[in-house]
Amino acid sequence: MNLHEYQGKEMLASFGVAIQRGIVAQTADEAVEAAKKLTETTGTAWHVIKAQIHAGGRGKGGGVKLAKNLEEVKTIAGQIIGMQLITPQTPAEGKPVHQVLVAEDVYYPGETETSEFYVSVLLNRATGRNMIMYSTEGGMDIEAVAEETPHLIFTEEIDPAVGIQGFQARKIAFNLGLSGNAFKEMTKFITSLYTAYVKSDSSLFEINPVLKTSDNRILAVDAKVTLDDNALFRHKDYAELRDKREENPIEVEAGEVGLNYVDLDGNVGCMVNGAGLAMATMDLIKQAGGSPANFLDVGGTADAARVEIAFRIILKDPAVKAILVNIFGGIVRCDRVAQGIVDAYKNMGDAINVPIIVRLQGTNADIAKELIDGSGLNVLSATAFQEAADKVQEAIA
Ligand code: GDP
Ligand code: MN
Repeated sequence: MNLHEYQGKEMLASFGVAIQRGIVAQTADEAVEAAKKLTETTGTAWHVIKAQIHAGGRGKGGGVKLAKNLEEVKTIAGQIIGMQLITPQTPAEGKPVHQVLVAEDVYYPGETETSEFYVSVLLNRATGRNMIMYSTEGGMDIEAVAEETPHLIFTEEIDPAVGIQGFQARKIAFNLGLSGNAFKEMTKFITSLYTAYVKSDSSLFEINPVLKTSDNRILAVDAKVTLDDNALFRHKDYAELRDKREENPIEVEAGEVGLNYVDLDGNVGCMVNGAGLAMATMDLIKQAGGSPANFLDVGGTADAARVEIAFRIILKDPAVKAILVNIFGGIVRCDRVAQGIVDAYKNMGDAINVPIIVRLQGTNADIAKELIDGSGLNVLSATAFQEAADKVQEAIA
């Protein structure tokens, strides 16, 4: 589960990580109130207005702007709230902005210059350990840094048995070229950040930029936080941070009925039992010249009710030109699945407007084939993988 920047920062702050302070606002008037309140605590009159969407690169897309007074706060917040923000990380049509974070300006001029760093915490799957990835080249596109100047990206692996050690935090601060108070603050920042990562059961923290202010403080100016869904049961209070508006609506609906559905770009919908067979089926569709419109694992029970829900969800995607059902009857009998498909089809009537290709293999596959072939519906049965692929090809031609 992804968090908004403002939620991620609040969570980090609860573990003692220093952040750029801010208040979330839903309207331009709320933004002005937020700015007034912030000025009381921070003393700064300048604010930065930041679109809250689940995508990075907001600065480039015009979703992060500096306001020098309350009128500007109002105008800018009014422009950003309700806009369709397009960034390199959003879909081509952009994402609607429902709220902004009004944050203290922390780039104020001072005796020394500000510096932007990159810091992330993630799992190194090769070693099975968490690692801190960091760079002096913060504020910009880290992918470009990795591509062009990979020697400027450092990593520090943490031994899970002992956790982060003082020398590791100091090494990071040193490699980032810091000294004096900024050095001390960075060691604290890294240590609390890592602790927050472990205690919150997160799977990714990406803080870009981490800022050294002109008065040598270290702050998280941005926060991308991904929580591990499998650990959410341990953090009941995080569940309410979920913003379904940011998620694919078909995926949300599928999740509510317990279907494992992932929306994809293609034109052939697929309904499969088992993740492995689902992957193989997607390959099969590709081979037939199509491309999968979704990943869908219906799981163990493929009765009429469940098949119908699955069909309805697949058909919500207007790009779907055909549906391939590929089910292995191991625990579930193929004839039951076939009956489920026929019943669901009859029940749905006109709602099914694309050809359906059904491949059922396993227990009672022959009875299942007879059921499908004798149904008189626009359902084609296939026995072999290749046959299914050919029929998909014909259907989408
Ligand atoms: P992203 O573009 O989605 O990654 O959003 P960020 O939170 O990283 O903000 C983008 C950029 O806005 C940062 O790299 C900064 O350069 C700038 N920015 C953020 N906060 C402030 C601020 O308080 N003052 C000023 N002047 N610029 C800021
Ligand atoms: Mn950023």
